[in-house]
Amino acid sequence: MPAPLHPHTALPVVAMIGGGQLARMTHQAAVALGQSLRVLAAGPDESAALVAADVRFGDHRDLDALRAVAGGATVVTFDHEHVPTDHLEALEAAGTRVAPSPGALVHAQDKLVLRRALGEAGEPQPAWAEVSSAADVEVFATAHRWPVVLKTPRGGYDGKGVFVVRDVVEAASLLERHGTLLAEQRVAMVRELSAQVARSPFGQVAVWPVVETVQRDGVCAEVIAPAPGLSEERAAAAQELAVRIADRLGVVGMLAVELFETPDGILVNELAMRPHNSGHWTIEGARTSQFEQHLRAVLDYPLGSTAMTAPVAVMANVLGGAAAAEDWSGPALDERIHHFMAHWPDVKLHWYGKTQRRGRKLGHVTALGDDVAEVRARAVAAARYLADGVVDPAFAFEHDH
Ligand code: ADP
Repeated sequence: MPAPLHPHTALPVVAMIGGGQLARMTHQAAVALGQSLRVLAAGPDESAALVAADVRFGDHRDLDALRAVAGGATVVTFDHEHVPTDHLEALEAAGTRVAPSPGALVHAQDKLVLRRALGEAGEPQPAWAEVSSAADVEVFATAHRWPVVLKTPRGGYDGKGVFVVRDVVEAASLLERHGTLLAEQRVAMVRELSAQVARSPFGQVAVWPVVETVQRDGVCAEVIAPAPGLSEERAAAAQELAVRIADRLGVVGMLAVELFETPDGILVNELAMRPHNSGHWTIEGARTSQFEQHLRAVLDYPLGSTAMTAPVAVMANVLGGAAAAEDWSGPALDERIHHFMAHWPDVKLHWYGKTQRRGRKLGHVTALGDDVAEVRARAVAAARYLADGVVDPAFAFEHDH
């Protein structure tokens, strides 16, 4: 059966499940390719629903809503990993192309499934065990010492569902609440890295430079490309690891391999099979962005160049801060954007159009340049101004009027 095409443009229709900022930025990339992303959003105020023309409203756990958005689409893909596996299998059985396939995606949905698969493949990862009783945790802690990291296998994001436990009592109360958990040794990490690769059904792969991700309170705050001071050898090892995982699992689309760097090497933390926060810098910092590449990959188009456009790119998230408070009396958002543009004309803004709330990912900024410290300071100061209305003294506004 030939893949359905758009009746007017004669081009493919990609349907994305989820209407957040990842869908919004994928839509932006789709426009340049002559397409318009079809989106399944939960409501009209979601980031992508505000900008895409073909938006369907519904719940990603509702099979009928999934069937409706898949009808007439060339391929169905995702802006998050929360769609139930059996629904995706049902879509596939009905002839819909799903990318990544449910069999691959489950490794990004379920941390226990991932740990088992990586174990079988002999890939580096923290020591782990499946635990369903306090006694199980005690055995694990005896072998790997307290504290132990306990994780809910499914549904976690931004550090929710990750608990550092110091004794059996804490472990028992978590097990009571959540049932079976993944136990991991607490890794003595130097920092966190991310290796992104795109893979097409044809089997073509494209990798970007390995980046450093800086987390604050379990949420990604900054991404530095390439990871400063990472040896060529270790960077190549991380890229090869990402390609091996993509090939082995048969990933189609973007794969982000989140890594812990330790003094002895790298360990896999978790996977995302979609555009990822660690790749936002590619919009300006690489010849092909992760969003365009995801579309190319799921449509089995040849992949684009991942070469960097500058020696250094730094992305800083704008997380809802002081300026998101209800009683905020400083400059309003529109005014902050005005000042941001006046003071950092070379820093690029991506605002997601969300209602401002503390801690929420509201947008991001990207700076390019030659010197890591300088580029990083510029990106962070600009993001901080947008979030908190606070100007870093190093970037004092000289031309205020
Ligand atoms: P999420 O699915 O919420 O992103 P992660 O499994 O990525 O959860 O964990 C969130 C954060 O917790 C990681 O970015 C890391 O900083 C920390 N963390 C997770 N697992 C470990 C571990 N085994 N050892 C030490 N820190 C960890």
